[in-house]
Amino acid sequence: IGRHGLLSDLGFEYKGIQFNQDSFHIFAGLCAVDTYENAEKVFKALKENNVCCARMGAYKPRTSPYDFQGHGKDCLPWLFDLAGKYGIKIIVMEVLSPHHIDEIREALELTGNPCGIILQIGTRNAQNFELLKAVGKQKEFPILYKRGYGLALEESLMAAEYIASEGNTKIIFCLRGVRTHLGDPHRNLTDFAHVPVVKRLTRLPVCIDPSHPIGTRIKSSDGIRDIYHVTAQGVIAGANAILVEFHPEPDKALCDGPQAIPLSELPIYLDYVYKVRETY
Ligand code: PEP
Ligand code: MN
Repeated sequence: IGRHGLLSDLGFEYKGIQFNQDSFHIFAGLCAVDTYENAEKVFKALKENNVCCARMGAYKPRTSPYDFQGHGKDCLPWLFDLAGKYGIKIIVMEVLSPHHIDEIREALELTGNPCGIILQIGTRNAQNFELLKAVGKQKEFPILYKRGYGLALEESLMAAEYIASEGNTKIIFCLRGVRTHLGDPHRNLTDFAHVPVVKRLTRLPVCIDPSHPIGTRIKSSDGIRDIYHVTAQGVIAGANAILVEFHPEPDKALCDGPQAIPLSELPIYLDYVYKVRETY
């Protein structure tokens, strides 16, 4: 198996920020952009805490077609304007279809390119080969590829290879938990023991997403505690990035509210992450 793309580069630079197997970044923010006010509160809190990267979902893949699907392209102009206002350099944003890439590009141009975008491939699209080829063909935006929740690690690495083999090797590989048949108090089994494995098998920076393995199955306060603990696991294992969900009012969130850390805890969470990094 020729992982030529995944082995070819020693990381990449985007918007003046280095991403490699030694770097460390935090992409914190809303699972789904719901209101202008909430997006502004998140960007403002990030700025106050010296964090210049964010996560923001405009296109949401939902289990039920009746659930909130995200504001899509309608929210992009004001979202990007807000990012510029608060000095946010990069936003991680999921795309579900190749035309979403064009919509993002158009909104960036309309707003004067105030920030960079890393395109997220979500776990449900982990083997959507046409989408993988499309994000691989364009070289403008780096990709955050999420491991498939029902896939062997090998299968997800090979899917990421689809992106690289089209020419775009600016890839971050993200672990976000896997499904098992064993039952789990959480939504998925945390797979952060694979951080060093992916770092050995590829030259990609490896991200952990502690929000989605925990999910919404247990009492929210216990879930939030567990998010801290699995974050520590991933950081100790050598993660190069964290993608994590916050919300100003988790009870009112339209998507993944119960697993959102209250935005007021952002400084506490960051402190925790930095302490774990210093200690190990
Ligand atoms: C998300 O990041 O909000 C998301 C939908 O993640 P995943 O694809 O890992 O479920
Ligand atoms: Mn989510």
